[in-house]
Amino acid sequence: MKILSPAKVNLFLKILGKRIDGYHDLMTLMCCIGLYDTVSIHVGHTNIDVSCSHPQVPEDESNLAYMAANLFLKTFEKNDGVKIVIQKQIPVAAGLGGGSSNAAAVLLALNRYYGYPFSMQDLMSMGLSIGADVPFFLFQKPAIATGIGEKLEPYPGLEKFSILLVSPGVSISTAEVYKKLNLALTKCKKKLKSFPLNHQRFDPRCHLCNDLEAVTASTYPVITTVKKALLRHGALGALMSGSGPTIFGLFSDSHGASQANHALFHIYGWRMYLADMITQDTGFDIQT
Ligand code: ATP
Repeated sequence: MKILSPAKVNLFLKILGKRIDGYHDLMTLMCCIGLYDTVSIHVGHTNIDVSCSHPQVPEDESNLAYMAANLFLKTFEKNDGVKIVIQKQIPVAAGLGGGSSNAAAVLLALNRYYGYPFSMQDLMSMGLSIGADVPFFLFQKPAIATGIGEKLEPYPGLEKFSILLVSPGVSISTAEVYKKLNLALTKCKKKLKSFPLNHQRFDPRCHLCNDLEAVTASTYPVITTVKKALLRHGALGALMSGSGPTIFGLFSDSHGASQANHALFHIYGWRMYLADMITQDTGFDIQT
């Protein structure tokens, strides 16, 4: 089986508070985008074997796709093995959820291969034990996530903007960002006062905000430079995704995004990716 495993962006990310288990309660609007890893799965191997061309991605049991296969087969009480090959396109440790998406892809593909032994609810709880973003990818549509990311409500009020992602070439640990977060200084609450939770339109001019952005930008000022540059080159709004460091700009059409891509590459030489938001059902494309 070959699966296209999409990236996501957070259109807002508001931190509500720290829990006693160390996690943070949050409220975030997430949407998948048309930037994909390809995950190939061959069942029938003797053990679980993961390979990935990207040097920063582990190939052992700490790989999130490995964890997903292991948990699925254990829960299903199957002795089968599986070979997983990941072709990475999604930048790693970038706030785009690549590893979580790969884990969701494995759970969905194995469930289909074995004739759907598990309900979506079962897959969601397996996913959550692997990572807080995995349930969102299993959900397969734009959603507002609360709790640590596991309570999901569909959000149909999104327009299909064109996206330009900028990878500023620095790397960030999500745990470090949360450690440095000062809840007294977060700003999303104010910005989201006018946010239509009744599923009317998301407006990139007013509603884009991320409580983690100031934390990451205090270490990497390039984040502020990228945001300003995107806005100067026609973006309706620009924001850091997740814990960063990827910044994205939203454009009303692909022509505008593409023009900004050319201009910014010419001036700064940043690594950039053009993509669309997937506002309909994401539906992981599983080919057999
Ligand atoms: P998070 O916010 O959950 O840390 P992210 O979206 O910023 O995630 P990922 O690309 O998912 O970033 O990678 C996070 C970490 O997980 C990296 O340090 C990477 O080495 C590790 N990892 C484990 N499995 C995978 C995988 N299949 N794909 C990408 N990274 C993986």
